[in-house]
Amino acid sequence: MAYVLHTAQAIERATLHRDRCPEVPENIQYHDLWTGTWQEIVDKEKAYEALELSMAKFKKKCPLCKP
Ligand SMILES: [Zn+2]
Repeated sequence: MAYVLHTAQAIERATLHRDRCPEVPENIQYHDLWTGTWQEIVDKEKAYEALELSMAKFKKKCPLCKP
């Protein structure tokens, strides 16, 4: 089980997902200003840390996949 951190600069939001969350796109390599960037993080501790360290104003854990 891995985690995916989604950072959308346009809406100043960082969201942590599990890698199998339906909201995580097939191709996480693709990104732009609106869709934001997707970063895969294998380790749970590091995933939580990455969310904390995010520059985004709003930080949350996905309510759908509950990482
Ligand atoms: Zn999710």
